[in-house]
Parts: sequence; structure tokens; C-alpha cells
Amino acid sequence: MPDLPQAPFSQIAPAPEADTYAAAELRALRTLWWAVEQSPAAMMITDAKGRIVYVNPRFSAVTGYGRLDVLGRNPRFLVSTAADAGSHGNLWGALRAGEDWRGIVCNRRADGTDYEAEAAISPVRDANGAITHFVTVYNGTAATPPHDSLPPQSGPLPPQAGAPFQELIESAAYGVLVVGNEAPVYANRAVASIFGYAQVEDILSLPSLDDLFAEDERDRIKRYRRARANGLFAPKAFECRGVRKDGTIIWLDVRVRLVMWDGVASTCWTVSDITLRRIYEDRLQQQANFDPVTDLPNRSLALDRLSAAIATSRRRFRKVGVLFIDIDGFKSINDTFGHSMGDRFLRHIGELIKTCVREEDTVARLGGDEFTAILPDLRSGADAESVGRKIIEAVSAPFRLDGREAFVGASIGITISAEDGSEAETLLRNADSAMYQAKTSGRNTLRFFTPELNARAINRNRAAARLRLAIEREELRVMYQPIVHLGTGKVLGAEALLRWRDPEIGLVDAEHFVHVAEETGLIVPIGTWIVATACRDAASWRRPGNEAPYVSINVCSREFRGSALTDAVMNGLRDNNLPAESLHLEFAESLLMIELPQIVTSVRKLASAGVRLSVDDFGSGLSSLNSLSKYPLTTIKIESSLTRRMTATPAQTSLVEAIIAVAHRLDISVVAEGVETTRQLSLLRRRACDAAQGYVFSEPLSAEGLADLLATWSDRCPAGFGES
Ligand code: GH3
Ligand code: MG
Repeated sequence: MPDLPQAPFSQIAPAPEADTYAAAELRALRTLWWAVEQSPAAMMITDAKGRIVYVNPRFSAVTGYGRLDVLGRNPRFLVSTAADAGSHGNLWGALRAGEDWRGIVCNRRADGTDYEAEAAISPVRDANGAITHFVTVYNGTAATPPHDSLPPQSGPLPPQAGAPFQELIESAAYGVLVVGNEAPVYANRAVASIFGYAQVEDILSLPSLDDLFAEDERDRIKRYRRARANGLFAPKAFECRGVRKDGTIIWLDVRVRLVMWDGVASTCWTVSDITLRRIYEDRLQQQANFDPVTDLPNRSLALDRLSAAIATSRRRFRKVGVLFIDIDGFKSINDTFGHSMGDRFLRHIGELIKTCVREEDTVARLGGDEFTAILPDLRSGADAESVGRKIIEAVSAPFRLDGREAFVGASIGITISAEDGSEAETLLRNADSAMYQAKTSGRNTLRFFTPELNARAINRNRAAARLRLAIEREELRVMYQPIVHLGTGKVLGAEALLRWRDPEIGLVDAEHFVHVAEETGLIVPIGTWIVATACRDAASWRRPGNEAPYVSINVCSREFRGSALTDAVMNGLRDNNLPAESLHLEFAESLLMIELPQIVTSVRKLASAGVRLSVDDFGSGLSSLNSLSKYPLTTIKIESSLTRRMTATPAQTSLVEAIIAVAHRLDISVVAEGVETTRQLSLLRRRACDAAQGYVFSEPLSAEGLADLLATWSDRCPAGFGES
């Protein structure tokens, strides 16, 4: 802490104030001295021999040295040992020659840290031209001392100090302005330059101080100016906007205190131009609150605005709606068009969302492809829903990027204040859970938050943590269920089925945990592992003279987005010396509906490498038979429930019959899943279904189990197989 302030000159006797001229000068000097004391720049005065005779409070704030630490010392001790000797050499040379010096000094603080500061050093000469003092002004960067630590407005002034102080004020980089009644009575050169006037006289001829300040600052300025009538006026320090002669607005740091000037109670104003600092601060503010990619508010500002909206809406008995928006399939935009196009696309999405909301609503980017829309002053949740639907419609419309057509969707979760949480964080988090629900309900849709969702989200997080552990502990297994040709009775292939051997529960079916893997992205490493394992196992089933069964692996759309799946397939085939057709990839019907370029490209690439493609659970989704021609499919698999219902009514039988007929016309073979009885088997054979899998043949087996089954298949083929 700097030690302040009467000390420096207290040992010097006060000047006699006998004659009025001397007294007036002394008063003026005292005013100037206080201006130096309050200066926002660090200042030091040395005598002709280079000994420090004065430093101001700002100097202490910047350097960490108190006055008593430095008085009488040579300022060389301030220079950092890391300083560039050349530049400082320059400095001493200039001083010896009695010249001004300006430059950057590298100094060391009392605490041992270094700082750089712009310094201006000027010699002060007496009437005979002899150098009596040097004045150094640093533009230091340390915090300004608090204003209440500024010295009281009195105190002796050293008799010899007049010349250096006057010089200091005249040449200071900050403005010093003394205002008598209305208009300035004293101004230094810096005031003219800060406000863009050619001469100090131009300032002095201004009718009022008002001309120097922005209009909405004038009330305050007037109050302070008139305060001189009130002896109790405390020093003021504030930042405000000033006006240059040409009308441009600048930011000023202003300090005001009462002084006596020529016997008249006046105000002394020190003024520094802080426009650059404000611009810099505004930029920092922008960085802290706005997302640089879209220029939209970021998460932190969104939460602030949401808190404010909650408070205001509560007072008006209204609600706030929060939409949590995640783009569906955004990664493929990055993958296909590149990251910078992805950024442009995010900006475009931000604009689109803004067109769906009112002026007073906030649209923010939370990160990645997640946005939020905060809708204050709603009457009901229905209003939020209609905004959500508008956003989905806008975002899912096809658009052109780089001359190509592309599609994405939006999944939206909605919360309504009070009902789904009264804190901003809670509302946003719950909207996130609801968004997840929208994703799992097929995407490009919206869901309202319900308390059950919260519980589900917690369960999902727990499940994800357990699944991660299961991967580490190698508790995942691949089992194989044979697929049998209904004409020849041969085992054509085997479907690879993921199981989790939980140490407590035993074997858990994939259907109980695969959605967690998909939602968390764990499906990608798991998928890679399954492909590698299945390829190795498929290779182990090869026997000389026998055609090895293919292995059929389930994959989800997410796996087709990156290159991990394609790489795993290529590596698996190569490492095990397998022909491409010995690998089938099964995917859900819904993949046929997805138009994402990344998925389309991956699927086609795998197909052209010779890998076979199957549509799984055909008949469960909404895809038309027409969509079967989109990819070069080799197989469709009829889902188990359809197989089960098939024998129930003639209509169900006809449905299966139709699927088989159309598939055959497209040269696609049909596998019925979940075949449990010989009755189902016979019916399928009569309808020319190509192959089947299910308990009627075998439950899922380990790789070794399947090898055994292959070796003994002719004996194990179910009784009655082949009978019609
Ligand atoms: P989903 O349909 O499940 O939402 O998947 P998605 O493809 O939309 O991908 P997801 O939401 O899981 O992840 C968002 C992706 O956005 C992850 C990252 O690759 C990408 N991303 C994140 N930040 C940026 C960014 O600043 N610029 C660009 N171009 N991409 C980003
Ligand atoms: Mg997304």
C-alpha cells in the first residue's frame, strides 16, 4: 500500500504568504500540486543530481514503493534487471544531454515482478536555463488507489517546488482544468488536445464547461461545478462521456475537487482520455458475454437474462418459456462441408431462430450446436410450443450450402417457469432433459419437461457411468445367433448380438443399454470393438471345403457419421483376411429416411467395398417399400413381432407375403427374425421367405458355441424342418 500523503514536503517550511501576488501564485501552485497528487499517471520528480524528491500516490500504486522508500534515492534502482540495456542506456544519455526522453521502461516492482510502462522524462530549467529537476511520468497499468485514500485538500507546498510542478502540469498527458463560475479559468495543453481544440485559449473562451461533455452527462457536471458553493463537497471520481470539438464522443476519467483559485472557490478537474481502455473493456465484455461464432449471447448472459425474465414475469403473473434447441445431425455438416462452413451454418441457424421469436425474446448459443430461446411474458405453455414448432419448421427446411442441398433438424425441450423450476439453471437443465427426450422420440420434434424425465436423466447418467465401467472391465460380450437358409437348411450366417455380462445380474440384452450407448456416443467405441471381435470370430468359423457363414452386425446411424465404422470394417476384413461379403451390416429402417450426406456417403462406400447391407426390423417403422431402392440392400429382416403375428390372421400373413414379394422383385432376400415354432417356419417356407433365425434353430451362442453348432449342424437341424 502506498504511504500517503502529507509527508513529502512537511519538513519544508511553508512559504510566506505576505504579498498577494505570491499568495495567489502559491494558491495556484497548491491547486496544481493536488492535481499531480490525484493524477491517474505515476509521477516522479528528481532533483538536478537525479535524487528522487517527490513521487505521487499513483507511483506508489504502480511500483509498490511507498514514498519514504524512494525519497533521496537514484531512480536506477527501479529498473528491472531484465530491461534492455540499450534502451535504458539511451535514456541516461538523453538525460545527461538535458533532452526530453520518451520510451518504454521496464521496471521492477517492490514485490519483484516486472512491468513495462510508457515514460516521458522532461528536464525542468530555472530562469537561467540550468536544469533543476527532472519530471518523469509513467503511464503505469496498476489499479488506481481508491479515491477515499486521496489526500485532504490542504497542505504545505514546497517553495522551490513551483517550477517543476508548473512544468509538470503544463506538459502532463492528462488534462487539468480549473473552473470558476461557469467557464474554465485554467486549462493545460492536454485539455485542448483531449477535446480536439488547437489552443488552450479555445478552451478558456468556452462559455460553459457543458460544451465538453455529452448531453446526458451535463446534469451531473453542473451539480459538481456548482458544488463549490458547498464547502462540504467531497472529491468525486467518475467515468463519463465527453465531446470533442468535432463532435466525436470520447470516454473520460474525471476527478473533481474544490480548490481556491485566485481567491475564488473553484473546482479543479483532472481529465484523462480513457476511450481506448473503454473500447478494450467493451471488447472484453463482449467476449465474456457473447459467442464469437454467432455473435449471440452466450450461456452466461442467457442465464442472466433468464433470471431477470423470471423475476419480471413473476411480478406480472406471467410465465417464461425456455426452449433448449439441439440441431439434429449437425456433425455431418461439419464432416461434409468443413468446420468453417459449419460455423457459418451455426450463424445461419442463430438467425433463423431469431426470425421465429419476438424482439424482446433472447436467442443464445449455449455451445456446440445447442441454442436456447428465452421467451418472457407468456400466458401459457402453448405459446412456447408454437414458437418451438415454428423453429423446427424453419430449421428443417432444406437449404443450400456450397451449392449443395442439405438438411438438418431440431430437437427441442421446453420448460415453463414456476412449473418446471423457479431458478434459471434449473429451467435450462430441465429443458435439456426434455430435449433429450425429443431426440430419443425420433428427433426433429419437441417435448415438454416432465418430472419423470428428470428421474430418467439421472438414471441415464448412472447407466452411462456403469456402461463406461463395463467397457473398462471388459464385461461386454458378442453372442451369435445362426441364420438358416429355408431352402437348403444350411447355416448362412449369424447375427452378432451385444450382451453385457453384469457381475451381479448376469447377461443383459443390448436393448436394455444400447440407447444409453447411443445417446452418450459410447456406441462408437463399442461399435468398433464389435466389428473387430465379430470379424475375428467369423474367421475362426472357416473350415476347408465349407463356405463360412457371414456375420451380421447391428449398426446405428450415429456410427455411419464419422469414419470410425468404415475404418473398423476395412481393418477387420483385412486383418482377418475375410472377403467383404462375409460381413453384413444391419441398420434400422429409419436410416433409409435420413438424407444426411455423411451417412449416405458412408453407406455407399461400404456397399461398394462389397459389404452387404441389411435393413433390420423391417415392418416396424414407417419407411415405404419404395425407400428400399435407396441403397444397394441385400437383405431385409422381418421383425419378430410381425413373425409372431403372422400366423394369427390372414391379413398379417398377407403383409409378410407382400414384403417378401416386393423384396424379391428388388432382388433383396428376406430373413424372418424371432422364429420360434415349426408352424411359423413352414408358413415362411411356403411364402418363399429365404432364411430365418430364432429359437426354433438356436439361442444366441458364444463364438465357440457357434463353431460347435456348425460342426454338428446336420444332426441338430430341427425335426420337421423342410416339411411343408
Ligand atoms: P445429434 O443429431 O445427436 O444432435 O448429433 P449432431 O450430429 O448434431 O452432433 P452433436 O449435437 O452430438 O454434437 C455437436 C457437434 O457440433 C459436435 C462438434 O463436432 C460440433 N461443434 C461444436 N462446436 C462447434 C463450433 O464452434 N463450430 C463447428 N463448426 N462445429 C462445432
Ligand atoms: Mg446435435
